[in-house]
Amino acid sequence: MPADALTDDAAPLLRAEGLVKHFRVRGALPGRRSVVQAVQDVSFTIARGRTLGLVGESGSGKSTVARLLLRLLDPTAGQITFDGTDLLRASRRDLRALRRRMQIVFQDPFGSLNPRMTVLQAVGEPLEVHRLATGAARRDRVVELLERVGLDARDLGKHPHQFSGGQAQRIGIARALATDPDLIVCDEAVSALDVSVQAQVLNLLKGLQRELGLSYLFIAHDLNVVRYMADELCVMYLGQIVERGDGDAVFDDPRHPYTRMLVDAIPDPDPLVARAAERGAADGEPASPSNPPPGCRFHPRCPLAIERCRTEVPPARQLGPGRVAACHLADAPREVTLA
Ligand code: SF4
Repeated sequence: MPADALTDDAAPLLRAEGLVKHFRVRGALPGRRSVVQAVQDVSFTIARGRTLGLVGESGSGKSTVARLLLRLLDPTAGQITFDGTDLLRASRRDLRALRRRMQIVFQDPFGSLNPRMTVLQAVGEPLEVHRLATGAARRDRVVELLERVGLDARDLGKHPHQFSGGQAQRIGIARALATDPDLIVCDEAVSALDVSVQAQVLNLLKGLQRELGLSYLFIAHDLNVVRYMADELCVMYLGQIVERGDGDAVFDDPRHPYTRMLVDAIPDPDPLVARAAERGAADGEPASPSNPPPGCRFHPRCPLAIERCRTEVPPARQLGPGRVAACHLADAPREVTLA
């Protein structure tokens, strides 16, 4: 897929181009090593004040992409530009300054908070690490952050176990906001929460975006959640982006068979429709990223696969403004491709 095929024209806050991440792991046989192609030639942009959703099954490479953007992992190849600065060539000092502007909210709110730290310590820690506030100023800033997320000064001395899951995630969000970031990566940030609590946290994130002009990379396997949050959507399969476009357009008219499969698998409130969708869904599990299929990586599961799909890697086809799908049949007439 061409490196620039899945980017847009607006001046983005973040641009990832041709990202590759391979891990060398121990092979099945003694002394043998194999290479896991976790991320393969992934390109996208995140616009200022907007949300890019990243969806795909477990193991599709979503979280690896997040860790590459935050420089928690070094890419095998590719380029990441944040607000015009090349993240991979930035000096340690510049990188430290940029890290303040990129934060993450993890899936497990309790796992991401130190159980021995009070809320004041946990939310105030980034302020100390980045030398932004100490003493009374730090306390005041922490109270301000808690109030932004629906908590208050009475919570300062409490420990994580004294909160519900939703409240603990609010603490995680307050901590992510402490350094006044431009971009927050939400990595399955509401997946561990009850549905009613999920809605509250999603609305909180949307409100914060409006107030603070935040950009989000929103990673989730729940398509309903992503649809609610994302302005734009990238669909990943086995380390590659297979479809990209405006969020509603992708959900309403998926052009890649894998996206169609995900959309069809969204549970329908009507049990008869849900059962019919289940019967029509594609079977099978993704192949191993250490031994991906040749040609289109989705071909062993694709109900539309043709001979060419087994040998030729499908290029990213531009289907309209900002709309791209990597499928040999993506721009064929709909009644032919996805009937
Ligand atoms: Fe299916 Fe072929 Fe398209 Fe891959 S390229 S998604 S196998 S039709």
